[in-house]
Amino acid sequence: MTAAIIDGKAISKLLRKEITQDVEKFKAETGITPGLAVVLVGEDPASQTYVRSKEKSTIKVGMYSEVHRLAAETSQDELLTLVDQLNNDPKIHGILVQLPLPKNIDENKVIEAINPAKDVDGFHPVNAGRLLIGQDTFVACTPYGIMELLRQEDVQLKGKHAVVVGRSNIVGKPIALLLLQEHATVSICHSRTADLGAMTRQADVLVVAVGRANFITGDMIKPGAVVIDVGINRVDGQLVGDVEFESAKEVAGKITPVPGGVGPMTITMLLKNTLLAAKRC
Ligand code: NDP
Repeated sequence: MTAAIIDGKAISKLLRKEITQDVEKFKAETGITPGLAVVLVGEDPASQTYVRSKEKSTIKVGMYSEVHRLAAETSQDELLTLVDQLNNDPKIHGILVQLPLPKNIDENKVIEAINPAKDVDGFHPVNAGRLLIGQDTFVACTPYGIMELLRQEDVQLKGKHAVVVGRSNIVGKPIALLLLQEHATVSICHSRTADLGAMTRQADVLVVAVGRANFITGDMIKPGAVVIDVGINRVDGQLVGDVEFESAKEVAGKITPVPGGVGPMTITMLLKNTLLAAKRC
């Protein structure tokens, strides 16, 4: 069997077109331009690339974009002051502080300082808590993007066994909750899971967010499973996922490639959340 490829790039393009139309309609009806502020501290090259891409995409869908590039030596207090200003700025509906932050800054303190109503990354404890109890919230962009991929691909989740490998606050835990909300039976695996292969081979839907190149191989996948590879790893200058694509695609029913799978969806869902924040204000 050769798996069908889930084309995140194409799905993302389609969704961005819809977002652009929605933004235009919202602006015409309310006179409000949805605004996103991105804060970058320091000069991490990967973060700089992500921020440039967020800025470009925001403008392209017709929203207002503001990027604050701060020196690596910026103090926590200075950053908190900026977050406070953005919380009170009516032009800004969404605030995203690019992670990771330099070591001298407590990430949790900064995330908690963002007004939950502007927390378009969905990392604030209030929004994470709302997701846990099934209330309306801002869903973290990567898990939100994965759910949209599954929806667009008509993947049935009710009664299926979904296995999530990874339990981070930004991917593993929220995607497990979202799959549970859709009535999948969910297992969460992590670094202390005994016999990982025995777990992953049971998965009708397998989501892998570990951060290790080619970690899940074809022999760990149930024939016909839907495989979502969240990993982004750089190997010899190439981007590769957490799933060994060549062996996995011979077993899986559907699979996301890296690049071009989950990655493009993350910024798309950030734009969707920013529009939602503007609509809610
Ligand atoms: P974290 O490092 O925060 O979490 C990794 C998880 O993998 C942990 O829960 C860890 O378990 C688990 N893990 C590590 N080793 C093993 C193992 N041997 N067996 C089973 N589980 C293991 O990573 P993130 O969730 O932030 O990111 C995961 C990957 O996704 C990365 O490659 C990242 O770059 C990528 N990513 C991609 C995004 C996109 O837009 N496409 C967005 C966000 C992330 P434990 O908790 O026990 O330590």
